[in-house]
This record gives sequence, structure tokens and C-alpha cells, in this order.
Amino acid sequence: MIAGHEAGHPRGGGTPRLRMRGTVLPEAVVRDVWVADGTISLDPLPGAVTVHTGGYLIPGLVDVHCHPGTVEVGLPVDDDQLLADGAAHLRAGTTLIRVPGSGSRLPSWFGERPGLPRVVAAGLPVAVEGGFFPGWGRQVGIDDVPRAAAEEAGASGWCKLIVDWFDDDAGYAATMSAEVVAAAARAARGTGGRIAVHTQSAEGGHAAVKARVDSVEHGMHLPTELLGEMAAIGTALVPTATVFTSLAPQMDVDAVPPALRSWFASGLRRHRDLVRSAHEAGVVVLAGTDLPPGSLTTEIRWLAEAGLTAHDALGAGSWAARRWLGYPGIEHGAPADLVVFDEDPRSDLRMLDHPRLVVARGAVVG
Ligand SMILES: [Zn+2]
Repeated sequence: MIAGHEAGHPRGGGTPRLRMRGTVLPEAVVRDVWVADGTISLDPLPGAVTVHTGGYLIPGLVDVHCHPGTVEVGLPVDDDQLLADGAAHLRAGTTLIRVPGSGSRLPSWFGERPGLPRVVAAGLPVAVEGGFFPGWGRQVGIDDVPRAAAEEAGASGWCKLIVDWFDDDAGYAATMSAEVVAAAARAARGTGGRIAVHTQSAEGGHAAVKARVDSVEHGMHLPTELLGEMAAIGTALVPTATVFTSLAPQMDVDAVPPALRSWFASGLRRHRDLVRSAHEAGVVVLAGTDLPPGSLTTEIRWLAEAGLTAHDALGAGSWAARRWLGYPGIEHGAPADLVVFDEDPRSDLRMLDHPRLVVARGAVVG
């Protein structure tokens, strides 16, 4: 039941204290949760408004791979689109996003302002010249890749490296050697930053894992024999499956050169098994939507269809993703970002499209 509809609206200049009671995931413990000053308290707070009792409380959803503010591929980030995308994320319960590279540098207010999710960003994606969308990213000579990776990681905390791309022969291939990928990873880590690698080829995936990067983005054609090593190192896999699924019809027409067509079709065909095998091998699999903007909840459901349990698929877009990005779940002193459902969303993941209540930065999202 819902009470206190006025909650979340500042009264007397402040945000009201909130109280919720429900089953808290992932622990599945029934408890009271209080919120004040943007922070979760597990100790009672006097004067709190009860906004929900019953149901399930889960840590705010996380999209670990999205590109908000994109109006057109190749163009800089559009501020109006950025605001609209951020607000849409929040309404859907996505209180934290990771932006692994953007068309231009994200404005400092994005990720800070109320009404928007928290943001982990990777600056401009680093690629070799011609090795990414025209007009996008930091496309440099091969010798400059490690330095550019270090600069982006140093400035943002993350670097995104594009290690394979469409080639001149109407195919798709690695754009840099494994040695360069390894040097870039070392350079990025040398700044204290982390590195995410875009790869959709076996060679690129191999280079990324051998370079011990923090995440493999997309991972299409990733060799399964690398999965044990990924699990041991802690390299996460972000399969962005719903984007591949949505692209499938336009990649399966005569206008697409045969080599590209079979590269995409065979990659997509094995993607589900790859993700299930990765999960079974102990690789951290996380939910990301990429571009064109997909739906995080659709991606979570795809992960479950691929073979993750509903619990683990939900975690891939919530508590596990938060932990991986260094954000706590529903704990005492944690940022007050959480989503409330009337029933256990793990019993039917379609429920994720209908949160009862979203709390972000300690306030009810209206
Ligand atoms: Zn992307």
C-alpha cells in the first residue's frame, strides 16, 4: 500500500524523511528502511513519512552501457537530449548509469543534478584513426593509443578503448595489436583508472582478456576458452544483447556485404550461449543497453532467457552492477537510490517495467 503521496516534495525547504518497509534484495530480508538527506538509514528516524509498506525493495537499477544525449551518431552530445534521457532513466528506476564514451565530453552537471541518475563516465572513446564512427571519439595514430587511454582514464576514471571495427574490405577486424591493447590497459591503470574495451571479434576479445581489462563490452565472437581466465581476473562481460537483436533485421539484407552479414549472424547466433557459459564460468555479466537506446529491463529479461537465474539477471542490472561500480546496495549509510515493487520482481521480470516507487538521491521520483 502507498501512503504519504506528498512525500518527496520539499516542505519547509527540505526533503522529507522517508520510511519504507518490505523485503530487501538481494538478501531477501524483511526490514524497515529510512531515508534522510539522500542517505539510507537502517536505524529509525523520527518524523519519517511512510511511503510504502509491503512488497520488495531493490537497489536502484543500473545501466552499465548507455550513451545518453545522442541525437545522431557522429555528433556531439545534445544537452536537451541528455536531460530527457536522464529523466527517462530515472523514471524507469535506473538511478545509476555508466557512459562508456560519449560523442563529446559530458557537462559537469550531468550526474550531479537532482532529477538525473548518477553517472560514471569514460570521457571520449579512444580508437585508431578510422577505427570508429566518423566524427566520434578520440581517433589517434597507433603509437598514441596508450597515451590517449591514460589521459581519458586519468580525467574520467574510465577509458573506453575500441579495439576492432569495420574494415576497408567490407568486413570487421581488429584495429590494433594485442601489444597495443595491453600497453593501453597498463597506461589507463597507471592513472588509477579502469578500462572498458569494445570488441566484436575473436582477436579483439582475446587481446582484451590478455590485457586484463575491467570489462569486455559487447563481446560478440568472444572465444569461450577465455571465460575461465576472465572469471579469475574479474573482467566483466557486458553483452548488450538487445541492441544486437534489434539490429538483426537490418544486418540480414542483401545490401549488407556477405562477410559482414555472416560475421553478425554467426556472432548473434552464439551470443546467448556465450553469455550463459560466461555466467556458469563465474564471469560477472552485467546489463547494458548501448545505442540505439535500448531498454534495460528488456536486457535483464534477455539475460534470464540466456540462462541466468532471475535473481542473477536482476542483479546484473542492480546490486551486482552497483558493487562493480563501487556503489553499495540498500545498506546503512548508502546513497538512497532504490526501487520498490509490489511483489517479487524475480517471480516475473516483466514487473520491472512497472515500479511502484522510485527513490533517487533520497527523494521520491514523481
Ligand atoms: Zn556503446
